Amino acid sequence: MKYIGAHISASGGVENAPINAHNIGATAFALFTKNQRQWVAPPLSGSSIAKFKAYCTEFGYSAKQILPHDSYLINLGSPDKEGLQKSREAFFDEMQRCEILGLDRLNFHPGAHLNQISEKDCMKIIAESINITLQKTSGVTAVIENTAGQGSNVGYRFEHLAEIIEQVENKNCVGVCIDTAHAFAGGYILSEREGFEKTFSDFDKIVGFNYLRGMHLNDSKKDVASRVDRHETLGNGFIGENLFRWIMQDSRFDEIPLILETPDENLWTEEIERLKSYLN
Ligand SMILES: [Zn+2]
Ligand SMILES: [Zn+2]
Repeated sequence: MKYIGAHISASGGVENAPINAHNIGATAFALFTKNQRQWVAPPLSGSSIAKFKAYCTEFGYSAKQILPHDSYLINLGSPDKEGLQKSREAFFDEMQRCEILGLDRLNFHPGAHLNQISEKDCMKIIAESINITLQKTSGVTAVIENTAGQGSNVGYRFEHLAEIIEQVENKNCVGVCIDTAHAFAGGYILSEREGFEKTFSDFDKIVGFNYLRGMHLNDSKKDVASRVDRHETLGNGFIGENLFRWIMQDSRFDEIPLILETPDENLWTEEIERLKSYLN
């Protein structure tokens, strides 16, 4: 089964996310469980939590169809002691919010070394951050997203994801999310069939499909290996339409949320429709 959706708005309360997802014909969705531009947020109210769960049941969204995303402020690989502490506390809070909503995974960008430490040391700190969090939470998988390698972000090679996972103690609660635009900008040639085959056979060897907990389906405004993170509507960017057809027809991408983060939300209904049409 393929679950297809978009990163929809939860403004006005998390309970609006499943409604908004249903309205665009989505069978999966992503959301922020708090304002992504703020460090702290008030706890979720009992009524919000109950309504969120009720709407998810009503519209047919189970945990494996939902991919919450954490705040962009968090840097779990920060070389700065204070910044790291703040990030770890915020991440723990986000994991708890997922737990309380009955969600089983949290998607996050691994972190950035800010040109103060090596990539290797940054990845070690990220793994440590995950370990600290997993010791205090249960039932929620930390899902590391690959990056475009913009700025000083680590995670733009599959080897980076594998190196972080390697240092995580509880392997049952760690996973990855592959963003197609990030992979392409990071140097993986997804615009051609041969490149697609090689990319995901390498992914399987280096990380393993058993760790895949979600995908972000985005075309890219920038060319391959640009290391610049700019999403584009499917088919309108440098990757092109074919990749998304190949993914839809490939059972390795079954049973996980496949999430659009494309820039024009007015096109999401049509993009989801188009993706669904490739299933046959
Ligand atoms: Zn993404
Ligand atoms: Zn991105």
